[in-house]
Amino acid sequence: MAAEQRKLLEQLMGAGASSRHAQLSITDPKVCRSYLVGTCPHDLFTNTKQDLGPCPKVHNEPLKSEYEAAADKSKYGFEYDYMRDMQKYIDECNRRIDAAQRRLEKTPDEIRQTNDLLKQISDLTNSINTGLLEIAILGESSSVALAVLEHHKIRTAKAAKEEKERELKSLSDTSGPSGHQKLQVCDVCGAYLSRLDNDRRLADHFYGKMHLGYAQMRRTWEGLQKELKGRPPPQRDEDRGPAREDSYGDRGGFGGGRGGFRGGGFRGGGFRGRGRW
Ligand SMILES: [Zn+2]
Ligand SMILES: [Zn+2]
Repeated sequence: MAAEQRKLLEQLMGAGASSRHAQLSITDPKVCRSYLVGTCPHDLFTNTKQDLGPCPKVHNEPLKSEYEAAADKSKYGFEYDYMRDMQKYIDECNRRIDAAQRRLEKTPDEIRQTNDLLKQISDLTNSINTGLLEIAILGESSSVALAVLEHHKIRTAKAAKEEKERELKSLSDTSGPSGHQKLQVCDVCGAYLSRLDNDRRLADHFYGKMHLGYAQMRRTWEGLQKELKGRPPPQRDEDRGPAREDSYGDRGGFGGGRGGFRGGGFRGGGFRGRGRW
């Protein structure tokens, strides 16, 4: 009777679910290794623009304690999984930084638009000047009606010119060199920063969750990279498979084109060449 009651109570309290997790072993692929070793990226950006949503793997505190207490953690090689996980988000962030930086530079289209506007403004200036000359001549010959007509044309041309000048100004405000002077891209998290921002706003950024999250992830990544240097990655059966190799093939190695992301040692050779992990 007592046993039955306990069973019922366990079911009601969902103990079944937690004991299922408790039964997971530390090496189970369902367990989040980033969480075991450090901080899972999914936990870093909650409620920010970069919110990654909940982690699809299991975060289990007793397993984390078990991992931390393990005498020889390196035998698991989970640091490599953690690095690979972080690398994915760092690469993504770096791509976003590059794209944001490109947007600050003038595009060929903007250069063409600027040149078009300059040409139109110069044409309008010419026709205004010609019109004024015309009026002077017409005034001398007392052709009032024609002079009025010419005056109207000049006013239209002046309005058109002002409109083009406004377009040119807004184009150069939002793009290219002058836009560039005011905006820059944060090279840690990829957000736009304005050079006109006051200290308070800059502090809000640098102590904001998103910026700190990326700063922490990059720091952890670098620390682990140094720590793991010269240590061969674990050979695991679960890491072998054509799908994984393919997905790495077109990534161009670690650092993803950022010119040897902070420290470089990882790229072209080192890490990737040492075998699959
Ligand atoms: Zn996780
Ligand atoms: Zn930032």
